Amino acid sequence: GATIGVLGAGQLARMLALAAARLGFKTHVFAPSADEPAFDVCAARTIAAYDDPDALDAFARAVDVVTYEFENVPAATAEFLDARRPVRPNPRALALTQDRLVEKEFVQGLGVETAPFADVPDAGALARAVAKLGRPSILKTRRLGYDGKGQVAIRGGGDLGALFRALGGAPCILEGFIDFVKEVSVVAARGVDGEFHAYDISENQHENHILAETRAPAAILPETAVRAKEIARRIAEAEDYVGVLAVELFLVKSGRSERLIVNEIAPRVHNSGHWTLDGALTSQFEQHVRAIAGWPLGSTARLGRVTMRNLIGDDAERWPEIAAEDGACLHLYGKREIRAGRKMGHVTRIELE
Ligand code: ATP
Ligand code: MG
Ligand code: MG
Repeated sequence: GATIGVLGAGQLARMLALAAARLGFKTHVFAPSADEPAFDVCAARTIAAYDDPDALDAFARAVDVVTYEFENVPAATAEFLDARRPVRPNPRALALTQDRLVEKEFVQGLGVETAPFADVPDAGALARAVAKLGRPSILKTRRLGYDGKGQVAIRGGGDLGALFRALGGAPCILEGFIDFVKEVSVVAARGVDGEFHAYDISENQHENHILAETRAPAAILPETAVRAKEIARRIAEAEDYVGVLAVELFLVKSGRSERLIVNEIAPRVHNSGHWTLDGALTSQFEQHVRAIAGWPLGSTARLGRVTMRNLIGDDAERWPEIAAEDGACLHLYGKREIRAGRKMGHVTRIELE
């Protein structure tokens, strides 16, 4: 069987490896640190820095296709590997989503709405950006943020220079605040031949900036769901994307009409798609493996009304109770140590239709 190379070895890589194994693939993960969730379930591993050319070269030679579980893999690493084996999604798609400014310009270039934004290269630019976009607004580092890290709300008062410096002095963007009624996401896949399938739209609740719960299907108008899938398709086609992607969207209502605003794109399997492991005929992980391996895509049919709840930090201590619950589908990531804010597992509950 072929071997899939995965950059990163967290829970997403673990679930990819498990899905790949079911289809007869081997998985070789590459990550800079040992003791990662994916190491327990993959056939081979490389522990090395992402800029170690010898380790990358040997990794490329050991695999048939390369993918990644997170968008902060250095773009140079993806390009180095792409010269040796196909990297899917392609390095250009990866680079686009690594920088919030570039990403927003790209999305707007497709005629799709984003939050209003302004480039904030330095502290001086922040005052001008706040004057333009008003308050509240949200200052975000262009690169490397996740789970709300690397961003700060700008409300009344406050020393703007200090807020900019609190984010490390890195180049930022300022985003106008979107008064959304809910957050939804579309998880979709595009195959090597351009075949495109989207899962039903889910709605997502965050607690402390971390995804807490996802429900599918989202309670939105049918035409809004169609539009969300069209947005994902347009993005995937413009990037010549291969694999699973997620598009996070804000839903804004005026009267009875619903408007979608793109928040960000994740060039990978996504936490809001974990419900598909138990709630869809093909999980997002299997779908990603199918796509990058050049296989036909699987059915995205949903089996019922699904709720996926993340087990974060101490929540994981409740696993025996969840394991005993009739119909609860429990997933634990095998992380050795519970830490506050750390995603330890998730539980899916389905009302079969
Ligand atoms: P993730 O872990 O999803 O990668 P992140 O750190 O990249 O998160 P964002 O998705 O940009 O951060 O923002 C985190 C959350 O903050 C959003 O899900 C949303 O709830 C809120 N938020 C972000 N931008 C805005 C905005 N412009 N207006 C209103 N709320 C926002
Ligand atoms: Mg993000
Ligand atoms: Mg986000």
